[in-house]
Amino acid sequence: MDFKQIKSDEQQYMMHSYGRFDVALVEGKGAVAKDIDGKEYIDFTSGIGVNSLGFCDDGWVKAVCGQASKLQHISNLYYSPVQTELSKKLCGLTGMDKVFLCNSGAEANECAIKIARKYSFDKYGKGKNKILTLVNSFHGRTVTTLAATGQETFHNFFFPFTEGFVYAEANNINDFKAHIDENVCAVLVELIQGEGGVMPLEPEFVKEISNICAEKDILLMVDEVQTGVARTGKFLCCENYGIKPNIVTLAKGLAGGLPIGACLCDKALADVFAPGTHGTTFGGNPIACAAALEVLSRVSTDEFLCDVRKKGKYIIEKLSEFPNVKGTRSIGMMIGIITEKDNAKEIAAKCAEKGLLVLTAKNLLRLLPPLTITREETDRGLEILKSVMEE
Ligand SMILES: *Cc1c(COP(=O)(O)O)cnc(C)c1O
Repeated sequence: MDFKQIKSDEQQYMMHSYGRFDVALVEGKGAVAKDIDGKEYIDFTSGIGVNSLGFCDDGWVKAVCGQASKLQHISNLYYSPVQTELSKKLCGLTGMDKVFLCNSGAEANECAIKIARKYSFDKYGKGKNKILTLVNSFHGRTVTTLAATGQETFHNFFFPFTEGFVYAEANNINDFKAHIDENVCAVLVELIQGEGGVMPLEPEFVKEISNICAEKDILLMVDEVQTGVARTGKFLCCENYGIKPNIVTLAKGLAGGLPIGACLCDKALADVFAPGTHGTTFGGNPIACAAALEVLSRVSTDEFLCDVRKKGKYIIEKLSEFPNVKGTRSIGMMIGIITEKDNAKEIAAKCAEKGLLVLTAKNLLRLLPPLTITREETDRGLEILKSVMEE
């Protein structure tokens, strides 16, 4: 099969929900992928922040294959030692009390929204069910998480959306306060708006909303689907801000390339769900859990986290000498580049032609390299990026 055949089959047999680069990848190792013709690409995307340990890391492959040859799935009617081990590890690393395992970021956020509404219903009865999110946020593609997403362009076609979401401007404490009333039961935020253009929230704003939530018995829920699991040089991005939310959601990088999501809650919310109130067929899949355990054992050491911060800093320093770079926004290895010529999409396409995979977010270039990327792979990628920026 050649590229042309793959592309034409995609157009004939797959729904057209994605705009794709003209690249068909078939294998990879570390931060290097190979396409169907054997051409190499340096990967600055990790599959949108998913492949935390790069392609086919030896330890990860061993964990996945080991579990696949032992037991692949059992349903949630039975106990699973990999599920319990993963949940215990996640609680230990985050200081949260309990975990619900699911399959994606949107599902983890759906779970958070359901916990918030049931907690409020149990305590206050009907009525206090509004959830405040931020303008320019992104929380997923299900009908409810689209409603949670604070961008008008996502509130189309699929009416009626789930009711009960209000949107406040990021970093505007007065606008935030103006949207808080006695019917708000929870606040859901990304600490760095990823899809929204790599926009970190201001620490002052985050501290203030955290205080307001605590004061008014409003749950603070942080969507760490993109920022979590060491991406920002701390296990949770919350640690960069010194906050302790009531709920944290994880997904993308958690299992290093297998579908997984996790919703973590604190002690006060531990008993909100009872048998029958929430569930999933695939959630907590043993192979995904085994993969996640390998990721956690690797990325949670002080040494690894310090390395992530150093790698991020190195890339930012290099970028500051590049042509066409107007500025950067980043924490750890979650990096946004503002271009002088406002031509991020064009640059991303040219990079792919030259053997470098990069992302965009709004009109920014976005880099989410595998956390294990080597200096040599980084330099190879940056060289290609520089040559394209010079054009
Ligand atoms: C990617 C993302 C999601 C959605 O995750 P899916 O796994 O695609 O459902 C939700 N929130 C944030 C912050 C994300 O970056």
